[in-house]
Amino acid sequence: MSTHFAIIGNGAAGYRAAKAIRRADSDAQVSIFTEERYPFYLRRQLGEFLSGNLALSEVIFQSRNAYRRERVDLFLMTEIASLEPGDHAVLFASGQRVRYDRLLIATGTRAVPLGIPGLDLDGVTTFDTLTQAQAVQNTVKDVRQAAVLGEGIIGLTLAESLTGRGIQVTQLVSGERFWPEMLDEQASIRVEGILEQAGVTLRRNTQARAVIGAGGRAIGIETTTGETFPAELVACGCRRRPAIDFAKGSGIEVGRGIHVDEALRTSHQDVFAAGDAAEPTAFDEFGQQGAAFCWQRAWAQGALAAASMLGTRAEHVFEAVRLRTIVFGQDLAVIGRGHLAPAGDIQVLELHDEPNVYRRLVFQDDVLVGAIVFGTGETVHELNRLVAEKTPRSEVESTLALTTADSKTDLLPRTFARHCPICAAELVVHHGTRPDAVLRCGVCNTDLVVRWDGERGWLEVRRA
Ligand SMILES: Cc1cc2nc3c(=O)[nH]c(=O)nc-3n(C[C@H](O)[C@H](O)[C@H](O)COP(=O)(O)OP(=O)(O)OC[C@H]3O[C@@H](n4cnc5c(N)ncnc54)[C@H](O)[C@@H]3O)c2cc1C
Repeated sequence: MSTHFAIIGNGAAGYRAAKAIRRADSDAQVSIFTEERYPFYLRRQLGEFLSGNLALSEVIFQSRNAYRRERVDLFLMTEIASLEPGDHAVLFASGQRVRYDRLLIATGTRAVPLGIPGLDLDGVTTFDTLTQAQAVQNTVKDVRQAAVLGEGIIGLTLAESLTGRGIQVTQLVSGERFWPEMLDEQASIRVEGILEQAGVTLRRNTQARAVIGAGGRAIGIETTTGETFPAELVACGCRRRPAIDFAKGSGIEVGRGIHVDEALRTSHQDVFAAGDAAEPTAFDEFGQQGAAFCWQRAWAQGALAAASMLGTRAEHVFEAVRLRTIVFGQDLAVIGRGHLAPAGDIQVLELHDEPNVYRRLVFQDDVLVGAIVFGTGETVHELNRLVAEKTPRSEVESTLALTTADSKTDLLPRTFARHCPICAAELVVHHGTRPDAVLRCGVCNTDLVVRWDGERGWLEVRRA
């Protein structure tokens, strides 16, 4: 009898795990349950879809036929309501019960409801799924002013794509500066600068008290500072938490997310968790503070979960990257505890050695525990490794000095775009990048080497 691998969630972690299981075991029965209506799509590209740069067919990464060809049973619009790990069973919200041999929970996160009046008005939206992105796309045609509530990756995405559509965006920032849980002061200032330069109005120390409506539609916002301003679209890019309610009460250990060990196994032998829903307790020393919200980590963990579910030994590559994104064309990455302020045993080194590039290294007792890189994607891969390997300061400094010295010679004279040879995602290689630099595809996580022959550039898969 073949083994039944069941996966809840068809995002980066779940999809990657299904592909890896099928590749390793052609006899296995592989099922994916997702409450969404579309097959696997590139969630982090929803902003590009909203701004009109990508069509629906470019965001959807794998057609339903491709699942059939690969013999992966895809259950769309299927919400899992509860688990019975003792009986190796999942229960659908419709009441159906399905048995599995090994289960992967890869259900990502959900927005935490804001709890203010007016959220039920037309024109108020969150921005988590392709279905929601389509709904926003259908409404924005008539919108001239929008309010984005909250910071974070979704707030940033919304601000950029709505501005790109010519909409006047006001973004509410709850504290003195942008996203202090993730960014240090310098990085906040740079992100704020980019947003304001693009025309986004930032309202600091301000939260929404209510959405104002007329005739069932949103027409504005009332803030905690007592101001009101007009907005026909109110988009929530608010706090998130792992989507794991269905697992509570099942006996599987949960904290902020589903507790997992280094192999991504939960407290139950045959149940695993990966991606944003998982809380790898063993990685606490990296300061992940529970679950993270990062495509790159989810994608990497999908492969690791598959190996653990198959019982094969996977080389464990720790992903210390907590955020990897592009803000109005600028690379931004936060690795480990990159945002920490200097205090006690925490020392911080700020590097401004290249124009428009900011790098910040955080050491604890002379060991690298985090970094922030703004304005270039070049050293992110290396810094991830250095943080994951708890590298001493002297070694970090010599490694980065080498990179800097190399990068001063024969830098790429212009920016070019190429498709990833593995997943076909479009990647932009910026001028000033060093030929032979290693980039990582943000979609499929493959390491790629930048090649340049003096006139044209291309990307090759890095050989081990
Ligand atoms: C607009 C936007 C922009 C983003 N930009 C970036 C970025 O630039 N960089 C970055 O690193 N990350 C970004 N992210 C975050 C990134 O997409 C996530 O970190 C990543 O998708 C997490 O992958 P995952 O597989 O853990 O979960 P998800 O991709 O969230 O997939 C989880 C799936 O499980 C489904 N599900 C949940 N509960 C159930 C249930 N009970 N039953 C059935 N199905 C269920 C969900 O509907 C969802 O389809 C962005 C996210 C959004 C929404």
